[in-house]
Amino acid sequence: MSTAGPPAAADRPYDLLIKNVCLADADVGVDVAIRDGVIVALAEDISELASETIDADDGLVTCSFVEPHFHLDKCLSRPLVGAITPEEAFARAHEAKIHFTVADVETRASEALRLAIAQGIGHMRAQCDVDYATKLISFEGLLRARERFADAIDLEIVAFPQEGMVKDAEAPGLLREALASGADAVGGLPEAELNIDDQRRHVELVLDIAGEAGVPVEMHCDYMDHADLKTLAMLAAATLERGLQGRVTASHCNALAVYPDDEAKAVIEQVKEAGIDVTVLPVANLQMLGGPQRTPRNRGSSRVKELLDAGINVAAGSDSMFDIWYRFNRLDPVETGYISCLSAGMRTDDEVRTAFDMVTTRAAKIVGKDAAIAVGAPADLVVHEAPTIVQVMRNLPGRRLNIKNGRTVGGQESSHWCIR
Ligand SMILES: [Zn+2]
Repeated sequence: MSTAGPPAAADRPYDLLIKNVCLADADVGVDVAIRDGVIVALAEDISELASETIDADDGLVTCSFVEPHFHLDKCLSRPLVGAITPEEAFARAHEAKIHFTVADVETRASEALRLAIAQGIGHMRAQCDVDYATKLISFEGLLRARERFADAIDLEIVAFPQEGMVKDAEAPGLLREALASGADAVGGLPEAELNIDDQRRHVELVLDIAGEAGVPVEMHCDYMDHADLKTLAMLAAATLERGLQGRVTASHCNALAVYPDDEAKAVIEQVKEAGIDVTVLPVANLQMLGGPQRTPRNRGSSRVKELLDAGINVAAGSDSMFDIWYRFNRLDPVETGYISCLSAGMRTDDEVRTAFDMVTTRAAKIVGKDAAIAVGAPADLVVHEAPTIVQVMRNLPGRRLNIKNGRTVGGQESSHWCIR
């Protein structure tokens, strides 16, 4: 792909023209014309001038990526307190947070957002711990980072009571404060509680606070691959009781993968009835699950195919980056889509396409956006070097450009070959 600067002509009907584009759903190449941050024309051989022209050279153009679940406040904090198992991470998360300051959270979050923008992420749903250990310190750090990168990425902040809602008596009040100060959604982690009754109470408190504030819920459910965990079913029941269908997302849901088939089927039906979307986190969960002495039997992706077959919207996120929970991650949604294929056994052309949708359009739906490449749609796009979704995944990391509101805001160069 190549770019050309503004032409001298005075009459330029478009701000940006992307020439020679492949679309996933079209047989012929098109040009994409953009004005005022919106796609205004989509046709073969658009000849009018634009202030900026990009030659995609038969590369694929997709909607920009959405990272639907990422712990932005904790990323890059692993040097403070490393952990090996999820049990250790659950027990020691508060130790890392004691070291957090507003400036430190802003700096680490900014580093991650720069990387996210380079990878083509246009919207991130960021989890932010709000609890007795960090109070609103992490939240204030993320607010600052959000402001810094507002032109390049939409940052949605989920106020997340990592240390519990019953066990941590300060959490409900802090969640309400965060919501009054700019948080966009409420999170949850019922597994942080000490018993099943408190887990149920945790779910109910989170839903009640979200209901009062009119914001979405993003609940960590059944993180561990233990069949005795039942928090996804609790969430579905409480969502139905409160009439919050369509406003709740469950993340992880790893226990579902190890339930007996008939129990899993019943829970999936309940999730469908409750209008709950599901975000799987295979990148981090592939490494974190399984006992220390045995190779994991789970595959880190809940029951993606059964959830999809039931008509449930499923997205994929990357969860953590070099923090107490997970060592790796480069915040690359193509990599997340690719690993989703591996962990969920998605192998047909349609399934690979669905895995890509899980980091673009399906993830967009979870954050309340209707992502599409169409006239009238926002010009939040990624220009890839490779021409098809499969080739984009095969050619990781690949070259790409990130267009936000019709403006190039970032990109990355690959030194690798690209097979067309
Ligand atoms: Zn998480």
